[in-house]
Amino acid sequence: MRLTLPIKTAMLTTSLVLALVGAAAAWQYRSLSNKYVSLMQEQQQAMTQLAADGIDYKIGTHLNLLAREARGANAETFSTAQAQQRFLQESRLRTTFDGVALIALDGNMVASDPPNAKAVSIADRGYFQRARAGGITAISPPLRARTTDQPAIVIVVPVKDRHAHVVGFLGAGLELTRPNVLGDLARAQVGGGGHYVIETAGPDPVYIVHPDPTQVLQPASVEAADGFGGLVTSASLPTTGWTLRLVLPAQAAYAPLAAARSTLLSQMLLLALVCSVLVWAGTVWLMHPMGKLHKAIKKLRQSPDGDVALDIRAGDERGDLAREFDALMRDLRDKRSEMAAVMDASPLGLFRADAEGTMVYVNDAYLQIHGLDRSEASKGWLSLIPEDIRPQVWRDWQELVTKNQPYRLTQRLQRSDGAAVLISLQMRPVVADGRVVGQVGTLSDITERTHAEQALRTLTAIFEATPDYVVQLDTAGKLTYMNPAARRCTGIPLDASITHLQMADFNPPETLARLYNEVVPTAVKTGLWIGESNIWNADHQVFPVSHLVIAHRDKNGKLERFSGIMRDISAAKATERALSESEARLRTMADALPMRVAYVDASQRYQFVNQAYDGTFGFSRDAIPGRTVEELLGETAYRGIEPHLKTVLAGEPVTFQNEVVTATDHVFYEANYIPQRAADGNTVIGFHAVTTDITRQKREERRLVQLANQDPLTGLGNRTAFEKRLAESMATGPAEAAPMALMYIDIDHFKQINDRWGHLCGDALLRAVAVRLLRATRAADFVARLGGDEFTVILQALRTPDDARAVAEKILKEMSDPFVLDDRTLNISASIGVAYYEGEGATPKQLTQKADEMLYQAKGAGRNNWRMATFPESTPA
Ligand code: GH3
Ligand code: MG
Repeated sequence: MRLTLPIKTAMLTTSLVLALVGAAAAWQYRSLSNKYVSLMQEQQQAMTQLAADGIDYKIGTHLNLLAREARGANAETFSTAQAQQRFLQESRLRTTFDGVALIALDGNMVASDPPNAKAVSIADRGYFQRARAGGITAISPPLRARTTDQPAIVIVVPVKDRHAHVVGFLGAGLELTRPNVLGDLARAQVGGGGHYVIETAGPDPVYIVHPDPTQVLQPASVEAADGFGGLVTSASLPTTGWTLRLVLPAQAAYAPLAAARSTLLSQMLLLALVCSVLVWAGTVWLMHPMGKLHKAIKKLRQSPDGDVALDIRAGDERGDLAREFDALMRDLRDKRSEMAAVMDASPLGLFRADAEGTMVYVNDAYLQIHGLDRSEASKGWLSLIPEDIRPQVWRDWQELVTKNQPYRLTQRLQRSDGAAVLISLQMRPVVADGRVVGQVGTLSDITERTHAEQALRTLTAIFEATPDYVVQLDTAGKLTYMNPAARRCTGIPLDASITHLQMADFNPPETLARLYNEVVPTAVKTGLWIGESNIWNADHQVFPVSHLVIAHRDKNGKLERFSGIMRDISAAKATERALSESEARLRTMADALPMRVAYVDASQRYQFVNQAYDGTFGFSRDAIPGRTVEELLGETAYRGIEPHLKTVLAGEPVTFQNEVVTATDHVFYEANYIPQRAADGNTVIGFHAVTTDITRQKREERRLVQLANQDPLTGLGNRTAFEKRLAESMATGPAEAAPMALMYIDIDHFKQINDRWGHLCGDALLRAVAVRLLRATRAADFVARLGGDEFTVILQALRTPDDARAVAEKILKEMSDPFVLDDRTLNISASIGVAYYEGEGATPKQLTQKADEMLYQAKGAGRNNWRMATFPESTPA
């Protein structure tokens, strides 16, 4: 059994209670027992005294009886044998004593009852001598009765005459064991096992009374009685000088005391038991929060992040302990989460494996490197090993984790996202009590580093092989590396040391100055300088190079070194020069041309424009290269030419005319796009655009066309225009064919106007009629004046003859409104012939004839009227 604190406390308290109560009880018991013993002693003493008095009285009675009988005797009693016998018979002492005798002065027994067989003398006995000398009663020491062998005494009483002279003695023997003497006493039981003894006085006392008959008349031993351990009280018997003792054995004497003591003891034990139970219960109750604290701590140890609430309310030490522990745990948890945060934040993968090889802790970086989910932390890495070797790898791993030595390995893993990673693992055993209980280790993804190393090797190989000159310098400008090409160029043997060489050894003074003033500061500032410069070759001849300078910094940003990569561009420069000369010639030519000449690349950006572009689209000539066609022309114009751009960039030359309407201008141009192919002869890399302004020709052309088709008086179309338009309208294919109508309108009695108001007035009226006709028709309809007062209207996109009818009515209505011309008002009317055409089966001529016919009918019907025929079925309306 475990000795818990409550048990210990209970035991301690019980011991204390036992000790204290025991001491108190012992003290109490002692004083009690002292009192008891003295009380007992007093009691027993009284009893002893009472018994002594009783015995003394009994002996005294015997003495008195004897002395009274002695007084009844005289010298005569001794005178004859008869007198002696008579006296003895008459005295009746024999009933009281065991033997009676008359003793002469010389000590001879003269008569006795019972009689003696031979003469007996007691002259030599001490008690007789004392009695004779003093004339007094004397008692013999105890002696054995001759007949019964019982202890007995002999009493001698002097017999005196009238003159008080002793004449003889009366003697009597008394057996002490007689019940009326001491016999009862010897048999008396006092208390439980107590008894009386009587001893004689003098230097060699003997027992007269003793419960053990063998002890009677044996030497008395007071020590034996004392050593007995019991209670012994004494009282003397004055008559005989004997001592009566009451001997009570300890067992009997102290039995109540022993009973009291055992009661006390059991009460004490009971008290201690109750005490210990109470103290145990109390301590358990007091310790209850500690037990809870213990459970909480245990739980916390098992799952440190678990949510364990400590009872920190108690106001006493338990609360203090809980509070302190709570604070400690919080500190610990903080430390743990700090630690976990640090470990999780580590870019290095961290892990701990147990002795079976299972990962019991891994940080985020570990999972990231493996591409694993946290749920796969324990053994997930194994899934990244090819399946066929997986069991073997697992066996090796399990053997590894039990080894007590550090281990490192590099392993290729195939992550589940498909990436192959190279990891470097280092681990160390965790040893507890001399036993390997697991391993801790770090893991890093060295794929990139390996790649970087490979890249460096590749780069070095490139440097060694490239015809470009590659050099490296330290920050002081001293050379640290020159590739073979650079060595060949500058005439430095491949194996020669270069540490003594400086930039000044390879660069002419102008280049050197530029390096110091421009190139190096720029590279230091931006990391890179790219440009062209001139350097010396082995013979100190200057030649041009494209030049790249890189400033390298370490990971702290400190400048480490410079790299210079140079390429001989002598040939390129020469070509470039020749090219730029030829370009300049072409440019001069292009600028001299009146048309716009441009070169546009495949991304539709202007690369070159000639002088003719300057200001044309709101941009100066120099601002155009680099802009797109859309930027230059605007979105609308661009949409117009977009198909042509596509065509030419697909490799087809294009020629087209176009007009550009701007806020201020309206220009026509003709464009020729000629594709430019790359050197391979296939890829179109751009096109040349030659644009000629044809605005003037176009305008002239238009004017002539207009003149040929317009009625000069009204501005309406003339007969030519009418005929052309009619032919076009009727020529629309069957798909778009819609009914149309042709109207012939003639002013009634126009001649009279001329005649009455003059030709000029007639002309004015014709113009006004033209305006009203345009008003009465739709924009899509075509109004023309064929000559005189005869007008035609081509109505298009009709649905039914009613549409044509409505227009005719409308025109008549328009004509009936008075015309106000200058200072006069004219009222006129008109007649209309309509040919309605369903869209098929007639020629323009037939239609014209039909309209004319209808007009004739309208005129004939009284004018201010209209007539219509549908065509081809010639049904008059
Ligand atoms: P109706 O049509 O009702 O039969 O009688 P009308 O008087 O209108 O006769 P008609 O249509 O045949 O006459 C047309 C006249 O128009 C003939 C001519 O004098 C006149 N005329 C022709 N050309 C012009 C012109 O350009 N200007 C002017 N003012 N009159 C012209
Ligand atoms: Mg007319």
